[in-house]
Amino acid sequence: MVKKTKKPIYPFEDWTIRETEFSIETNYRNETIFAQANGYMGMRGNFEEGYSGPDGTSLKGTYINGFYEIHDIIYPEGGYGFAKTGQTMLNVADSKIIELYVGEEKFDLLKGKIHFYERVLDMKKGCVERKIKWESPSGKIVNVKIKRIVSLQRQHLAVISFSVEPVNFTGNIKFVSAIDGDVRNITESEDVRVGSNLKGRVLETVERGTNGFEGWISQKTQKSNLSYTCAMKNELIGTEKYEVLNNVKEDRVEVAVAFKAEKNRVYILNKFISYYTSKDCDKSETMKLALEEVRRAQEDGFCKIEKEQEEFLQSFWEDADVVIEGDKALQQGIRFNMFHLLQSVGRDGKTNIAAKGLTGEGYEGHYFWDSDIYILPFFLYTKPEIAKALIMYRYNLLDAARNRAKELGHKGALYPWRTIDGPECSAYFPAGTAQYHINADIVYALKKYVEATNDLDFLYDYGCEIVFETARFWEDLGAYIPLKGNKFCINTVTGPDEYTALVDNNAYTNYMAKMNLEYAYDIANKMKKEVPEKYQKVASKLNLKDEEIASWKRAANNMYLPYSEELDIIPQDDSFLYKERITVDEIPEDQFPLLLHWHYLNIYRYQICKQPDVLLLMFLQREKFTIEQLKKNFDYYEPITTHDSSLSPAIFSILANEIGYTDKAYKYFMMTARMDLDDYNDNVKDGIHAAAMAGSWSAVVNGFGGMRVYTDELHFTPGLPEGWKMLSFNVKYKGRKINVKLTHEESVFTLLEGEPIEIFYFDRRVLIKSGENILKGYEEK
Ligand code: BGC
Repeated sequence: MVKKTKKPIYPFEDWTIRETEFSIETNYRNETIFAQANGYMGMRGNFEEGYSGPDGTSLKGTYINGFYEIHDIIYPEGGYGFAKTGQTMLNVADSKIIELYVGEEKFDLLKGKIHFYERVLDMKKGCVERKIKWESPSGKIVNVKIKRIVSLQRQHLAVISFSVEPVNFTGNIKFVSAIDGDVRNITESEDVRVGSNLKGRVLETVERGTNGFEGWISQKTQKSNLSYTCAMKNELIGTEKYEVLNNVKEDRVEVAVAFKAEKNRVYILNKFISYYTSKDCDKSETMKLALEEVRRAQEDGFCKIEKEQEEFLQSFWEDADVVIEGDKALQQGIRFNMFHLLQSVGRDGKTNIAAKGLTGEGYEGHYFWDSDIYILPFFLYTKPEIAKALIMYRYNLLDAARNRAKELGHKGALYPWRTIDGPECSAYFPAGTAQYHINADIVYALKKYVEATNDLDFLYDYGCEIVFETARFWEDLGAYIPLKGNKFCINTVTGPDEYTALVDNNAYTNYMAKMNLEYAYDIANKMKKEVPEKYQKVASKLNLKDEEIASWKRAANNMYLPYSEELDIIPQDDSFLYKERITVDEIPEDQFPLLLHWHYLNIYRYQICKQPDVLLLMFLQREKFTIEQLKKNFDYYEPITTHDSSLSPAIFSILANEIGYTDKAYKYFMMTARMDLDDYNDNVKDGIHAAAMAGSWSAVVNGFGGMRVYTDELHFTPGLPEGWKMLSFNVKYKGRKINVKLTHEESVFTLLEGEPIEIFYFDRRVLIKSGENILKGYEEK
C-alpha cells in the first residue's frame, strides 16, 4: 500500500524555503522547518522578539549536541539488566532573544498589524531571514529585518543581525538582547516518542554577568556533572548616541540599548553568541573560551561570518548536491533534506546525529542505528571525512559497549540501542536492548567506509577492535541447536521491524551477524599477514586467540538463514509466518500509527510490519539475492507494512525501482523526499526525521541512479522517472570524485578527481577516464 502524499506547504523553489504568512497554527511546525544548527548546537526557529501565542503552539529550543542530563529510569516492575539511567539532551539557555521596543510598545506579531511578513531559509547561504512590516497598536510603523546564522565554520558561534527602520515616525527605540537560563525540556506528551523523564528545571545557574555590550551565563546540570557557558556580545550600528542599560537577574542577563531613531534610517543590532561546554574543555575554561569566541567574531564582523558560511556551503554543495531537472517539488525536498543532515551531524568523533537532529526533543536527542545504516552512506559517498567521524564516535563508545555485554552475561561488546554517550537508554527492552542487530549495523557501516576509502589505517588502528569485539559477542550470543540441524541460531532478538519482538532467528539479524563474523575472521587474517605488529597489539589487548577466530568462521559458516519453501520467501523470523496475516488495507486509517492505538501484544500477534526488515536486508546485502527473490519478498511484505516508521518508505522506493514497479518507486520516494517539508506525519513540530532525510538521498542515488556498491566495486543500473529530464549527483569512491549525470538518452560519468576507475554499467564493465564518459543505449529497466 502506498499512502497518499500531502499537499505541499511551501512554494517550490530550488534553494529556498519560504513562509509568506505568519500564523499561530503553523508556528510550532515552522520552528522546526526553520531551525538552524551546525552539528554542535541547534536553535529552533523561535522568534527573537518573543512569541505571545497560546500554550502548545511553540517550543523554545536551543540544544547542544551530546549535552545531557541523566535520570533514573523508573520501572514499576524492574528486572535484572534493565537500562538504569536515561540521558536527555538538554534544552539550554535561550540566547536568541532580542526584544524590540518602539516607544513603550513591544514588537509582537500577535499585537498591532502585520503589513508584510516573510521568512526565508536560504540553503546556499545557510541563513534564515525574516522581513516584516509591522504597525504597533498606536500606529507606529517599522520595517524589521532579522538574519540568523548558526556558523558551520565556527561551531561554537551563532550570529543574529536585527535591523529596524522607522517608517512613519522619529522616536525612541530600544533593543533588549538577552540570554535566558530559565529553560526546561518538554516533560509530558501524548506521543511516547516525544516527552522526557526530566521533571522541571534541571540547569542551575552558577555564574552570570554583563559588561557593556557583553553578557554571559554559566549553568551546570544536577546529575551528569556537565556544565557550560553561553556568552553574547552585541553591537549597535546606525548611531553613536545610545545608552546601554544592563540587567542581571537570577537566571537571565540582559543588555539593553536605547536610542533615538530617525524616520527612514536603519539601525542594526548585531548579536554574537557562543556556547562552550565542559565536554569541550576544562569546566573552568568555558566562560573564557565563549567570551573569546564572541569577541573574535565581533572583530571579524557579521559580513565575514556570512561570507564564510556561504563558502562552507559552496564546498558542501559542490560535493553533495543532487540536481533533479523536471521536478521542482523533489528538487526542493532533497536539498532541504541534505541541508538538514549537514546541520545535524556531529563532526568531532565525540557526538553523532540524533534521530531528530538538533531541531527538537523527540527521542531525547538519542543516537540510534539510524546513523550507521541510513545516514552514514550519504556522508560516506559525499563527505567521507564526516562518515569517519561518525564511526570514530562508535569507537569511543566501545568501553561502554563492553560493559553492557558483560552486564548481560556476554563476551565482547554490545552497543546500546539508543544513547548519547554510551549507556543503554532504552527503557523498553523488547524494542531496545533486544535490537542486537545494532552491533552488526555498526560493522556494516565500518566495512562500507573501509571499502569506499581504502582507509586501512583507520581499520587497523581503531575499527578492527569494533569488529572483533562484536564478532565475539555474536559467537557468544548464538548457539548450535540440534533440532535446527545443528545450525548456529540467534534466538530471542528483535529485528529492525519493531512490530515483532523477541523472536528466534530474525533473518536480518542472522545475515548481518554472519557478515560481522566473516569480516572479523577476514580482517584478523589480513592483519596477521599485512600488519603483524598491529595485529599482535590488538590481539594482546583483547586477549584474542586463533581458536576464537576460527570459532567465528564456524559460526558464520553454520549460521541459520531462514527460508520458507512453501512461500519461497525469507520469513522475517522463525514464528512470523505462523501468525495471522493482516494487510494494511484492512486496518481503519485512524488506527495509524499502530503503536499509538494498539497494545504491543496485539501488534506482535499479527504479521504486520512497522518497517522493512527482510527487504532492508536484501537492499544491504543485494549481491546475495536474485531479482526474482527480491520481487517475491517485496510482494509478500509490502501489503503488510504500515510505514509507521519514517525509515520505511525510502527502502521500498529503492527496491520498487529495481523490480520495475516504477509508479510505486516514485510514490514512495515522494513520501520520503518531502516527508518533513509537507509534514507528512503531522509531527515535524517535534523535530526533523534525520534517517528518512538520508533515506531520500539513497532513494535517488541507489534507487533512480541505480547505484550499488558491492564486491568492492561501483555498479550503476539507472532508470529515471518519466517526468524527470535529468538527474545528477556526485559520488566519492576510493579517492575518486565522479559526477553522474543521467538523462533518458544517455548517462554521462565525469571523473572530477582521481585516477581512472572501472565501474559496472548494467552488465558491462566500463573504464571511466578523466573528463566525460558518455554511455548510451542501456536496456530499459
Ligand atoms: C524506528 C527505529 C528508529 C527510531 C528512531 C523508530 O520509530 O522503528 O527503527 O531507530 O524510530 O528513528
